[in-house]
Amino acid sequence: MKQDTMMGVPIDALTYEEIVKDIPEYLETDKKMTAISVNPQIVTEARKYPEIVSFIKESTHRIPDGIGIVMVSKLTKGPIKTRVAGIELMTKFLAYANEHKRSVFFYGAKPEVIKDAVKNIQNQYPDLHIKGAVDGYTKLTEEELVDQINDQQPDFLFVGLGFPRQEQWLARNVDKLNVSIFQDVGGSFDVFSG
Ligand code: UDP
Repeated sequence: MKQDTMMGVPIDALTYEEIVKDIPEYLETDKKMTAISVNPQIVTEARKYPEIVSFIKESTHRIPDGIGIVMVSKLTKGPIKTRVAGIELMTKFLAYANEHKRSVFFYGAKPEVIKDAVKNIQNQYPDLHIKGAVDGYTKLTEEELVDQINDQQPDFLFVGLGFPRQEQWLARNVDKLNVSIFQDVGGSFDVFSG
């Protein structure tokens, strides 16, 4: 897979189609897909968050989420030609899960936002099995939340706590979770709630 590196952060030259094509391999094995957005903010602030840089280095799909990333890659004759927007990728994951009757779990956003997002997403994707949704201000401890997600064993977990919380949360917990596909989704639940 072709990749670029900006401020020590690897970014993969991927398309939506290539990422979606990889889904079955992760659903059918014990391997975990970590689809992580790399945007100009992360690249700019990378030096402050070595644990996030390590996590991104170990992630399976580091998506070029921002036109700034694409522009820098082009200017430096790098391999990244097109942007992969996190929310668009989430939409593709939801469509896949709906089509194949797979399950999802959501974590993040304000309580009323995540409630509305669940309602809208379920309306739009009726065959999607939403196994749980926990807001990003929950009083659950991290361990309790991990247990709750593992009780449900969702195929996909979407985490929308904003940068750097979501990357730090995933860095600490991916290995503990019985989930096949992880994505950090920033403010996407807010978009789905509207
Ligand atoms: N968020 C959250 N818990 C927090 C802080 C933020 O769930 O402790 C959610 C927030 O409600 C929003 C998303 O994270 O849905 C993105 O937040 P923000 O806009 O602050 O982050 P950015 O988009 O700038 O990364």
